[in-house]
Amino acid sequence: MQSAIRVFKFGGASVKDAAAVRNVASILKKYDNQNLVVILSAMGKTTNALERVHQAYVSGQKSDALKRISESKDFHQSILNDLFKKDHVVYNSISSVFSELEGELNLSPEASFDKSYDRIVSYGERIATTVLNAYLIESGFKVKHVTAGDFISTDNTYRDAYVNWEVTGARIFEAGKLWFAETGIVLTQGFIGRSEEGCPISLGREGSDFSASIFAHALNAAEVIIWKDVPGIMNADPKLIPTAIALPHISYREAVELAYYGASVIHPKTIKPLENKNIPLSVKSFINPAGQGTIIDRNGTDDKLVPSYIFKFNQVLLSILPRDFSFINEKNMSEIFTMFSRNNVKVRLMQNSAVSFSVCFDYEPAKMSVLIEDLQKRFAVRYNDSVDLVTIRHYTNASADEFTTGRKVLLEQKSRSTWQLIISKN
Ligand code: ASP
Ligand code: MG
Repeated sequence: MQSAIRVFKFGGASVKDAAAVRNVASILKKYDNQNLVVILSAMGKTTNALERVHQAYVSGQKSDALKRISESKDFHQSILNDLFKKDHVVYNSISSVFSELEGELNLSPEASFDKSYDRIVSYGERIATTVLNAYLIESGFKVKHVTAGDFISTDNTYRDAYVNWEVTGARIFEAGKLWFAETGIVLTQGFIGRSEEGCPISLGREGSDFSASIFAHALNAAEVIIWKDVPGIMNADPKLIPTAIALPHISYREAVELAYYGASVIHPKTIKPLENKNIPLSVKSFINPAGQGTIIDRNGTDDKLVPSYIFKFNQVLLSILPRDFSFINEKNMSEIFTMFSRNNVKVRLMQNSAVSFSVCFDYEPAKMSVLIEDLQKRFAVRYNDSVDLVTIRHYTNASADEFTTGRKVLLEQKSRSTWQLIISKN
C-alpha cells in the first residue's frame, strides 16, 4: 500500500531570498523518504511586482512594463547567483521564462482586465518553482516538477476561478498513482490553474493555500502543512498586540469564522475541501520548524480557550433611513442588499432598528460614492468614514478597554461567541 501523502505549502516569504530557499530545502530534508507534494508561491513580493507590470501593460506603457520586468529579473537573478554556479542550466531556464513574459507585452491586452492580469501574474509562480526545482535537484532531492495548470481545471472566472472538482480531482488522483510509485517530492505552483478556454487563471490573491487544499483533497492526503513566517495562527496581529500568541488547536469552523471577520489566517477557500475529507491542517513557522504551530481539525473543544482579536481599520459606518419615516421592512432590506451586491460592497457588520439600518464596510471612496448615489435615490444616508471595527472572538475573559479608552463606541454587537465594536478614530 502507498504510504501517507503530505501536502506542504510554502508562501512568498519562505523563498524571498537565497537563505530562505536554503531553509526550505533544510525543512524538506527532515521529511526525506516521504511522499510530499510541495506547493509554492511566487518569490517574495513578486506577485505585487507583476501586478504593476500588468497595470503598465494595460495602460499602454510598454517601456514602464519592461522596466518593471527587468527589476523582477534582477531580483531573481541575484537569488540565482547566490544559489548556483555560473554555468548552471537554471540561468537559461529562468531567462527564457522572462523572455516569454516580455513577449506577452507584444500581444494586445485582452478586453478583459482580469484575463490579462492572470496571463501576466501567473509567471511569478512559474519562475519560483523553476528556481526551487533546480535547487532541490542540486541538493540531491528526487523531484517531479509539474505544471499546476495541467491539473487544476477551472471555469473562465479570471482572478477568482471556480475549480472544476470532477476534472481536477480525477487528474490529480490518477497522476498521484504514478508520482508516488517511488518516494520523492512533487513540486508545483500554487495560485494558478488553467481556464476552460485553456488560458492561465488564478484562484485569487493568496490562493496558494487553496491550491494545497485542492491537491490534498484529490490525493486523500494525511495532512497539509502551511509554512509561514509566524508561529501559527495568532490570536491577534502581533504588530498590534505584542503579547499575541499562536493558537495551538482550533476547529475548521473556527478558522472559517476568524477568516470571515477579517483575520489574515489562511485563504478562506482552503478549509472546506479539507474539512470534507477530515484532513488536518497545520500552520507552522518556517523560521522555527520545530515549534508546535497551530493544528486545525474537526475538534472544536479548544476554540473557546483563548480570545482572538481582529482589527479592521479604515471602516465606514453608514446608516440608511427611509425618507418618509416609514419602517425598515423586508422590501426595503431586499432593495438595500441588492444595491450593496450590485456595488460589490462586502458588509462586515449590520444592525437595524425600526427606522434605520446601519452597516459597516471597508472605506473605499470611489466605491462608496457610487453606492451612496444609488442608495440616495430611495433613502436618506448618513455616514462616518473614520471608524475602526474590533471583533473579539470568545470574549468571556477579554476586555475592550484598551481599544475604547478615550474613543467613542458608536455601535456594539454581542453574540454568544463574538463581540464587535465600532469605534470612532478619535
Ligand atoms: N503569489 C500569490 C499572491 O501573492 C499567491 C499566494 O501567495 O498565495 O497572492
Ligand atoms: Mg503569499
